[in-house]
Amino acid sequence: MVRTDYVVDEMISAKTIAARIEALAREIEADFAGTEKLVVVGLLRGSFVFIADLVRELRLPVEVDFLEASSYGDSMQSSREVRILKDLRGEIGGRDVLLVEDIVDTGHTLARTTEYLLTREPARLKTIALLDKPARREVDFKADWTGFAIPDEFVVGYGIDYAQRNRNLPYIGKVRFTGDS
Ligand code: 5GP
Ligand code: MG
Ligand code: MG
Repeated sequence: MVRTDYVVDEMISAKTIAARIEALAREIEADFAGTEKLVVVGLLRGSFVFIADLVRELRLPVEVDFLEASSYGDSMQSSREVRILKDLRGEIGGRDVLLVEDIVDTGHTLARTTEYLLTREPARLKTIALLDKPARREVDFKADWTGFAIPDEFVVGYGIDYAQRNRNLPYIGKVRFTGDS
């Protein structure tokens, strides 16, 4: 059921996110130094704001591609079954790839999508997630970089939605329901 009786309480400001992305970009540049071209793959749709800011911080030759995996739909629960809905446009065989995700929650999405991308035999595959909810992990998956570890709260903003709303908030906020139905 989709509720509309909620407010969003700011959890991570736009400024804090920007500073963290700058630091992450320096680490990624160091790790991929000398790469001919890094293929930065965004997992649609939640990562679209993050990938836009991240690639603009990266002083590396990059190519941008997208992959869509099945998600929660409009629910707040993980389906645990992950399917590829939209495939990459480009080739990643023999290339350096960075998979960009909004949140690692149970870990199923990244575990499954990295497994899928590895079948294409990239030279290197690394993962980055803006947010991490370690308390919710169900499969043993660890992203190579994460922006912020957060508690088990449902968050929106900065590309992340609740029933397709709130993606345009410039900050990350926590959904707080105000009614009792
Ligand atoms: P996982 O497969 O790791 O359980 O789920 C990852 C996906 O669940 C994330 O990419 C994200 O789309 C969604 N997700 C996890 N936590 C939240 C949250 O707090 N808010 C929203 N909107 N989506 C979430
Ligand atoms: Mg996602
Ligand atoms: Mg969603």
